[in-house]
Amino acid sequence: MSKHIFVTGGVVSSLGKGLTSASIACLLEKRGLRVRMQKLDPYINVDPGTMNPYEHGEVYVLDDGSETDLDLGHYERFTNSPLTRKSNYTTGQIYLKVIEKERRGEYLGKTVQVIPHITDEIKAAVRGLSGPDVDVVITELGGTVGDIEGQPFLEAIRQIPLEIGKENCLFIHLTLVPYLKAAKELKTKPTQHSVGLLRQIGIQPDILVVRTERPLGDDNIKKIANFCNVEQKAVIEEVDKTFSIYEVPLGLVDHNLDQLIIDRLKLNAGSLDMSDWRDLMHQMRHPDHEVTIAVVGKYIEHRDAYKSIYESLDHAGTANSSRVIIKRIEAEELEQQGPEMLLKGVDGILVPGGFGMRGVEGKVQAVRFARECEIPYFGICLGMQTAVIEYARNVLGLEGADSTEFTSDTPHPVICMLEEQRTIVNRGGTMRLGAHPCVLHPESNAANCYEATQISERHRHRYEFNPEYRSQFEQAGLMLAGTSPDGKLVEIIEIPDHPWFVAVQFHPEFKSKPLAPHPLFQGFIAAALVRHQERVQMPVS
Ligand code: GLN
Repeated sequence: MSKHIFVTGGVVSSLGKGLTSASIACLLEKRGLRVRMQKLDPYINVDPGTMNPYEHGEVYVLDDGSETDLDLGHYERFTNSPLTRKSNYTTGQIYLKVIEKERRGEYLGKTVQVIPHITDEIKAAVRGLSGPDVDVVITELGGTVGDIEGQPFLEAIRQIPLEIGKENCLFIHLTLVPYLKAAKELKTKPTQHSVGLLRQIGIQPDILVVRTERPLGDDNIKKIANFCNVEQKAVIEEVDKTFSIYEVPLGLVDHNLDQLIIDRLKLNAGSLDMSDWRDLMHQMRHPDHEVTIAVVGKYIEHRDAYKSIYESLDHAGTANSSRVIIKRIEAEELEQQGPEMLLKGVDGILVPGGFGMRGVEGKVQAVRFARECEIPYFGICLGMQTAVIEYARNVLGLEGADSTEFTSDTPHPVICMLEEQRTIVNRGGTMRLGAHPCVLHPESNAANCYEATQISERHRHRYEFNPEYRSQFEQAGLMLAGTSPDGKLVEIIEIPDHPWFVAVQFHPEFKSKPLAPHPLFQGFIAAALVRHQERVQMPVS
């Protein structure tokens, strides 16, 4: 039977519960354990697919097409735990299941209630991940203890040890110990209160992970242990990591968190070898080069909206022994100020995915600048669609060419909705989603990067390259570098006589890991590095 770890959070939100959960899973995997991960989100949306990235950050897509919380991106980057639809549940999804059952009459006339029906469904979601091939299931509970909407989830996880045995469950609570400048003191009271709230519900945390700006010191650790009723060695401080999120697992190892968990759950584990992770940190800290990449998007102020893109650029930078300086550019600003102003001096340009027409013209200008000035260009999803639009307008001379997403009556719908998408009316979960195979042109840059001609990548879009324009584009020098296996859908375009111009309809950023950087991001950074070196060597005229 699998053991269960529950990770809750207190005091404030945004403490990095996702990162801590992912780091714990990383350590347990390194000790040879088979881990599954899951996030429970107490909001009512059925999934984050319909939520604004401004508010909620990026929507992270899994192979099976589920649209999930961005914390699942951390899970995939830190672990090898396979993620599926069962890895992210929301209040909305749980209620939907219960209401559907009620409509089918499955409750046999009973009054359907939060307890036990909703809590039973939550427990089933948690237990759904355990199995003979899984040693530990880690369930992260979104939100903060004390939130009204989190109550049914806490009640459900409180009940689980009663059903499967206390010795098979572990509660880890993440809190904050703030430093008060005026008092020159770290304050443990909020942590005490937060644990107090948990205990009122009937959950006694076994381990506290305490986020803090500065080391806690023995006195504070003792105080927290006493007031919160946990052993001193189970108060794990997690001092802010300012350099990189990939330091977090190493910090937890320094406080023996892996051993503590293994002892408590009586797991049969191997020894710990973090050498690859330590080497990675060393490489990150000592790059030989530096490149500047412009990311031209529309949610630029909100870092989390392009989380996986920024992470992938970092991974690829490390693989190229290069620091990547990211210049975040608001596409609308570029529209007003022109590309020369904002893109001068960058070594590569990336246009990420997006929806709606705000900023699209700025993105088209960025593509044109990259194409004409021979700056490495990487287009992702909408970034491919804008590249197609730009090529159509400025190379093929198709005036007014556009995507029907932005101009429904454009004379040249080079990007359009294909028949199967047209009849769909619901917004949620109705795009082309999840992993799809793609066949690469053997002479393409993409095939060169992947060192393969058959790949699989994740999608999330409604619109596609319009097949009616294929031959026109090809005659004008554009390479259709990747297509669906039946040849019908264009998945990658390239400009062969450009130093590096690759644009893809899928989202490669969902498959990059620090220890396995994505081949296309690697290729892009390598090309940007070449450009940088040429630029540095070029005499100033
Ligand atoms: N809005 C475009 C579409 O739906 C692109 C989507 C994206 O970039 N993820 O096809």
